Amino acid sequence: MAAKFIAHTELDAWLGRISERYRALVPRREGNAVVFRPFDPAMPVELKARPTESPKAAVFPRCEALLAYKYEKDPEEPGRVEVEVAERRDGVPTVVIGGRPCDAAAFKTFDRVYDSDRVRDLNYLNRREMTVLVSLVCSKPATTCFCHWMGGGPASTAGSDVLMTPVADGHVFETLTARGDEVIGTELPDASDAQMTEARKVQAAAEAAMGEPVDVGAAREKLLALFDDAGFWEAESAKCISCGVCTYLCPTCYCFNITDEKFGHEGVRLRTWDYCMSHLFTMEASGHNPRPTKAHRLKNRVGHKFSYYPSLHGGNIACCGCGRCIRSCPASVDIRAIVLNAIAAPAPRPKG
Ligand code: SF4
Ligand code: SF4
Repeated sequence: MAAKFIAHTELDAWLGRISERYRALVPRREGNAVVFRPFDPAMPVELKARPTESPKAAVFPRCEALLAYKYEKDPEEPGRVEVEVAERRDGVPTVVIGGRPCDAAAFKTFDRVYDSDRVRDLNYLNRREMTVLVSLVCSKPATTCFCHWMGGGPASTAGSDVLMTPVADGHVFETLTARGDEVIGTELPDASDAQMTEARKVQAAAEAAMGEPVDVGAAREKLLALFDDAGFWEAESAKCISCGVCTYLCPTCYCFNITDEKFGHEGVRLRTWDYCMSHLFTMEASGHNPRPTKAHRLKNRVGHKFSYYPSLHGGNIACCGCGRCIRSCPASVDIRAIVLNAIAAPAPRPKG
């Protein structure tokens, strides 16, 4: 695997060349947010501030057509209908540059669901196979970051194809996979020994800045034990205003809704992001809603990530500790505090 260097002054020109071969998604400032957009030489790339959104839309678009259909009725024989269905499977070779190590780890949460013995989501897999992750080391982790609780770290290589480390005059690219080698190519100069030493120092300082991780393994059983403790969930969700920001920004939230949009005798079947913090998420056609309050919905969100998902997927927690939900929640709900409160809560009294 290779270690290459690019100077700050060369970065835009290099991204321009990458864009000729791939859809290059880079972080860009839009208003107060940092979002992932195709590289545009006229718009500055934002590599210092943490991205507000995750890059999950690269493989799981906000809205996509899964299939198109049309049907024709025989005017002479109205009971006779001919239906034509065409699957839609788009996707272009993509490189995400400037996602963080926690974002790369988060794609594994998707993989376990969409590429399993039970489900192979071909639309997802098609994009996933075409997507290369060039992850930027978080040289200054935020107080809201807790990737190390989840087994990751600000310089972790897990899930990435290339690790990109900021050094004084530019960035060091360390390729980790054959796909990473293909993207980085051979045109950049090798990183010097001095640049590699500096990169290692940046990585070590970032890891050290995280402090000691907290073990939240006990949450799996404890959240189940608290399932019927309405008082606990009412207290934890009191501040929540059900805006859904936490779920939309979360790199590990993968729920969707399916709708048909019909125009005359033809239409498309759309998949769009959905969010369990909405009161409509579980609303049934009868009007019954099994999760009628925000307490029910927050319990589901936290329980799914820290208990139900790990039970189904070999103990892996469906949270990468990116802290986006904490940073962007308008009510300052902190998922770390909820999990720790659950672990510390007295065991509920047995019913009887
Ligand atoms: S971002 Fe905060 S207020 Fe909005 S739904 Fe999530 S927890 Fe509730
Ligand atoms: S739950 Fe919060 S901290 Fe965990 S991955 Fe989602 S946004 Fe990040």
